[in-house]
Amino acid sequence: MGVEELGSRMRDQARVLVAGAGPAGAILSLELARHGVRSLVVDRAAEPPLFPKMDYINARSMELLRRLGLADQVRDGAVPAGFDADFLFVLDLDQPPVSVWRQPSPRKQAARYAAATDGTGAAEPYLRITGSLLEDVLRRALRANPLVDFQESVELTGLEQDADGVTVTLADRAAGQADRGRRVRADYLVGCDGGGSAVRRALGIDLPVSGPSSSRCSVYLRSSDPLLRRHGRAFITTSARGITLVSRDEADLWTASFQIPDGTRFEGDPVAAMSEKLGETITVDEVLTVSHWTGTLAVADRYRAGRVFLAGDSAHQFYPFGGHGANNRYRGRGGPGLEARRPPRRLGRRAAAGQLPGRAPPGRPVLQGDVQQPAGGLAALRAAGPGGRLPRAAGRIPGA
Ligand SMILES: Cc1cc2nc3c(=O)[nH]c(=O)nc-3n(C[C@H](O)[C@H](O)[C@H](O)COP(=O)(O)OP(=O)(O)OC[C@H]3O[C@@H](n4cnc5c(N)ncnc54)[C@H](O)[C@@H]3O)c2cc1C
Repeated sequence: MGVEELGSRMRDQARVLVAGAGPAGAILSLELARHGVRSLVVDRAAEPPLFPKMDYINARSMELLRRLGLADQVRDGAVPAGFDADFLFVLDLDQPPVSVWRQPSPRKQAARYAAATDGTGAAEPYLRITGSLLEDVLRRALRANPLVDFQESVELTGLEQDADGVTVTLADRAAGQADRGRRVRADYLVGCDGGGSAVRRALGIDLPVSGPSSSRCSVYLRSSDPLLRRHGRAFITTSARGITLVSRDEADLWTASFQIPDGTRFEGDPVAAMSEKLGETITVDEVLTVSHWTGTLAVADRYRAGRVFLAGDSAHQFYPFGGHGANNRYRGRGGPGLEARRPPRRLGRRAAAGQLPGRAPPGRPVLQGDVQQPAGGLAALRAAGPGGRLPRAAGRIPGA
């Protein structure tokens, strides 16, 4: 059977249907293909979003991207490997930093890994890449893979499952209201459709929140104002006035994020707000986009119901600080990717019939620990209050 014929058959019938081609869905589908499993991937967006979201890929995630043959392409779009990625903490930009956390460049990390003889060296160092560029690399890989049928501008709008499979309704967004949706049958469905997951909601799976949420307005901008590097190069500058400045490309692309009350949108002048919070009037050449998002800590009660699975932000959400978001999606063999891959190849009909409900997904307890640690730390900080001391008697921050 030729690739085209296979492609047209897969339009009506798929072994695995993946909803969402963000980092989780794209990597899952490519990983399935690596194991010889075909998938149909749909994403309601025609292209990656302009707002860059993530920028930090840790060494383990890079190893997994390398296994998919994508490390070089990701590196091509990344911040050049010679830049250190220091974190500066300032009261105001016009005062010297109160603290600097030094993080050696990917090149220095790679040299350290190469010299390590105690097993602590990774095959790849961490990288900084704008999330939209990473998603572009992943989308190109999906389009090029003969075991993947990738359909963009196609939205999953409904699902039903029975003992033998899942029937989903797909709407072509490009056709607008005229499209009444078509029904596609799949053996398995994986909801990689992000924090607001339609798949999770259709399954009625709860996503309990473990810690306080924090809503932000992020301004993605172009500026060559030297004031932004007043204290030298830094990956992230955090000011006590409540703003985080991220260098996106070590050239002139930045994001500036500041907190806003939950449930609101920032309606003011983003450049004025950014300047006020940095304590300097910054010249901005271009505002590329203004975005709103809420950081939260949450792990879904379950990652699957029968033949339908959840992976990525649809299953668990983290504050992005520290790069815990997408990096948790890539946790390879022990994470949700394995859960999604298993039924077609290993668990077969027992899993499909929901006869293995007692087994917790192997990644879930780990992720619950990841959530409890910062949630415990935040609770301790809140209890201590401004200027307060953390309880030393307990020996550790709760949850840590
Ligand atoms: C400001 C910011 C900075 C971040 N920095 C980092 C970082 O440095 N490192 C890190 O690891 N993480 C970071 N994150 C988190 C990271 O971006 C997310 O964890 C990651 O994008 C989640 O990937 P995902 O594929 O699960 O979901 P998403 O990226 O949300 O992708 C979901 C996809 O599903 C599609 N979709 C949604 N609904 C449907 C539907 N019904 N039908 C079809 N398609 C649908 C969407 O169009 C989208 O393409 C950051 C997040 C933010 C907001």
